[in-house]
Amino acid sequence: MARRPWPRIKQEVSRERWVEIPEPVREVYKIWRPTPMFRAYGLEKALDTPAHIYYKYEGVSPAGSHKPNTAVPQAYYNKMEGTKRITTETGAGQWGSALSFACQMFGMGLEVYMVKISYQQKPYRKLLMNTWGAEVIASPSERTQAGRTILAKDPQSPGSLGIAISEAVERAAADPDTKYALGSVLNHVLLHQTVIGLEALKQMEMAGEYPDVVIAPFGGGSNFAGLALPFVHGRIAEGRQTLCLASEPASCPKLTKGQFRYDFGDTLGMTPLMPMFTLGHNFMPPAVHAGGLRYHGAGPIISQLIKDGHVQAEAIQQLECFEAGVLFAKAEGILPAPEANHAIASVIRQAQAAKQAGQRRTILFNLCGRRTILFNLCGHGHFDLQAYDDYFAGKLQDHQFTDEQLYANLRELEEVPFPA
Ligand SMILES: *Cc1c(COP(=O)(O)O)cnc(C)c1O
Repeated sequence: MARRPWPRIKQEVSRERWVEIPEPVREVYKIWRPTPMFRAYGLEKALDTPAHIYYKYEGVSPAGSHKPNTAVPQAYYNKMEGTKRITTETGAGQWGSALSFACQMFGMGLEVYMVKISYQQKPYRKLLMNTWGAEVIASPSERTQAGRTILAKDPQSPGSLGIAISEAVERAAADPDTKYALGSVLNHVLLHQTVIGLEALKQMEMAGEYPDVVIAPFGGGSNFAGLALPFVHGRIAEGRQTLCLASEPASCPKLTKGQFRYDFGDTLGMTPLMPMFTLGHNFMPPAVHAGGLRYHGAGPIISQLIKDGHVQAEAIQQLECFEAGVLFAKAEGILPAPEANHAIASVIRQAQAAKQAGQRRTILFNLCGRRTILFNLCGHGHFDLQAYDDYFAGKLQDHQFTDEQLYANLRELEEVPFPA
């Protein structure tokens, strides 16, 4: 029997373990799901490690990353709720292109506010969105009060994700038929992404293994949660020892250096407050190429799991990440997105630790006596070749912060106490 789909707000606060994927969403998922899982024989050989390394490849989606996993249900649920048009922001362009594809699948209009500097530097992402029928506007724009205010002060503003969110939210707030959609952080987004980990569980079973370590890059938490949450369940409900490791950029280290407290999801403070590990919503990360990881806070679910010790995190500098990404491309053939390079760098660290430990560290080794590592290759890097060009040309650098730079924004944040 056809059941009424769950409204998104109910998904956001649900305590149900299972929320069914609606049939029309499954139909669209069929274009690229289930995604393949590979054993990285080439990388294992290149590292000369006893570890078994597996990766789930989300780059096979039409937009080239995991983001369509949530863009498609979000477009669908909006359609069911009578929404005519969606607005959103995009930085590097991954989320904008995923939502453009999804809106096209369900015949919905889409306005994407794209950070102006990316709009100028990434014409191919913009063209991809246009091809799927979305309107892409360089932000700050003349179309909104928020944009006009910024432009009046600084006509040359390169824009920022925070400004683009403000423009998209303002447009949606002004029209009852228009809604705003977010591509990470929120609980319902993480829920949609768990399709990755649920498939991975089955695929690991087919391979006859269970991971000792699960790794994914971390921006707002959606692709990490998507892969890791089913394995976190294994820890909590089945007493497994799986190490769930989030890999974040040293240029935006909210998990390893941030504070757990209430903060806003956007720069201007228009969203509700969320409990999260954060560097403060005004924190402006340096312009690293892993654009999808330049976010000040971590989604509430993963933040709580970190606090409770079920998820670990490490921060990695971008040179180590690109070195890892190039090694991976040479060993496995797939050119990873700069964001995914963080996971690969963490995998290499783990594989090398496994090699050094030999077969003695039994708690972290499976029955074969080898450490099994699973990671999320959350996207390909075909639209990010400029990043590789800059890396090869020696133009990339690592980032060090003083405490002052790192904590200035947090000190200015108003402290909101947690409920007793
Ligand atoms: C957006 C993006 C990320 C970061 O977002 P999460 O919500 O943390 O997953 C990571 N990798 C790619 C390829 C992205 O497009």
